[in-house]
Amino acid sequence: MVATAAPAGKSIYRRTFVPQDLDAADFSKIEPLYKALLDRPVETPEQLEKWLGDVSELSSVIYEYGSRRYIDKSCHTDDTSIEKAYLHFVENVEPQIKPLHFRLQQKYMQSPARAALRGKGTRYAILDRKWAADVELFREENVPLETEATKLNNEYDKTMGAMIVHFRGKDYTLQQLARFIEEPDRKTRQEAWEASTNRRLQDREKVEDVYEKLLPIREKIARNAGMSDYRAFVWKENKRFDYTPQDCLKFADAIAQACVPIVAELDRRRQKDLGVETLRPWDLSVDPKNRPALRPFKETETDLFIDKTKTIFHRLSPQLADDFETLRTRRNLDLQSRKGKQPGGYQCSLEESREPFVFMNAAGLQRDVETLLHEGGHAFHHLAARDEPLVFLRSAPMEFCEVASMSMEALGSEHFDVFYDNAAEAARAKRSYLEGVIRFFPWMAIIDSFQHWIYTHPGHARQQRTAEWLRLMDRFYSKLDWSGHEAAKESLWQRQLHLFHAPFYYVEYGIAQLGALQLWMKAKEDPRKAIANYRAALALGGTKPLPELFSAAGIAFDFSEKTLRPLMNALGEELARLPS
Ligand SMILES: [Zn+2]
Repeated sequence: MVATAAPAGKSIYRRTFVPQDLDAADFSKIEPLYKALLDRPVETPEQLEKWLGDVSELSSVIYEYGSRRYIDKSCHTDDTSIEKAYLHFVENVEPQIKPLHFRLQQKYMQSPARAALRGKGTRYAILDRKWAADVELFREENVPLETEATKLNNEYDKTMGAMIVHFRGKDYTLQQLARFIEEPDRKTRQEAWEASTNRRLQDREKVEDVYEKLLPIREKIARNAGMSDYRAFVWKENKRFDYTPQDCLKFADAIAQACVPIVAELDRRRQKDLGVETLRPWDLSVDPKNRPALRPFKETETDLFIDKTKTIFHRLSPQLADDFETLRTRRNLDLQSRKGKQPGGYQCSLEESREPFVFMNAAGLQRDVETLLHEGGHAFHHLAARDEPLVFLRSAPMEFCEVASMSMEALGSEHFDVFYDNAAEAARAKRSYLEGVIRFFPWMAIIDSFQHWIYTHPGHARQQRTAEWLRLMDRFYSKLDWSGHEAAKESLWQRQLHLFHAPFYYVEYGIAQLGALQLWMKAKEDPRKAIANYRAALALGGTKPLPELFSAAGIAFDFSEKTLRPLMNALGEELARLPS
């Protein structure tokens, strides 16, 4: 696509290959475009370059169509015609496009001009290694195995989603019940926690069965693709070119050394504040001083919520505030919780018009502020990199995308006073945020290390798996008093949906948080420089390898204790200064 000046309100990116009136819901109209690309010669670097541009344009049009159907559906879950359009796309269009896209990737791999293009700079070299990995891993015989795994995951989702608990005269989903675990009254918390745990335990064996069916399928997928084990397969599939499994295990060691003692200190303080003899599993979510929840804005004050978030961004950099304002003027924010909206929050990039869209369910809570800062960071990333012509190079690897978002939470946490007149409340908000950051690392280490063990011990017995889980819990997790609830401790992993749906996909958040915290530290020394580096790194999109994206942001791509310890110490000191 070519960038040209356009009237205000219209995209400056226009189509040169895809017909203006293409109906992306109609596969019979899309297919000839793919066929034309498959038939076109790509013998010279010029031909290949032009061809890649057209593949990117067609992909962007289809991605944006799918994104818009998804956004529509999440904003109006009760509209059947919207749901129909979305399902038509994911069930009838997308699955037919995937194999065609793969054939395009194969065609690229066979082009005699590939080496010449790769020599033209890192952009193409990056694209080349990504597509080479996709083509190398693809096996026809794995397609039905992937479908089988998806079916098992649906079974897991259905089992988890069907859990309803009768509590004090009413029926609740487990998500609804969770708010009772934040109640000041300890007896209420305990009863709610036990009700929820007992319900999960009813299906414990069923979930174990699902997991044990998934494991051999995954091993087979890896073997079919010629990989030594499933972990090696995932490494390549997730394009983890710049770090190894050993780096992740070292990261876990660093967390045990530098982070776990700080969590122990936080636990001691929590125990003292709550005035309890031992911390029990239902004591971790409640405010330690039994105060009511923070209210940064009222549920209906969406404009105020946007204005104040913009003020925070403005304090970081006027440019970020301007970027954020474009989301409002382009109507790319849907923030307020209302009936008929899907739960959760996300940022979605519209790849043809190259605009970011932010969705969330703001209810006037402190975590809403953190969510909007987070999704705002993703939006800045998209805006900064949107001039990259190839959609396949526009977004960075996940490990860096989350640096973009988590940095905004970390830097923004210094400015929570924008939302609270009372300094003590701003401090409390910051404290709860920072505590969450620290407590995440050990949990991440458990989930990641558990999977390293799982996929390097094929054919292990159920008891061995449980023993390994308990070993990791004892190494990393808060030292809670589980007496009488040993079965809940043993099966806590079953709640982590990533273990089922996206194996190994979790360490990314830890890697990114390390980056965000480094930026937070740098911003304390020199805020202008930190933000300038942040923006410069975001603008690179996905055109550089991970270590270079980190270094462009002025931070180290390193997960050893050398990087982690000073960050944890700084967080620990900051928390020691803040009131409970
Ligand atoms: Zn994110």
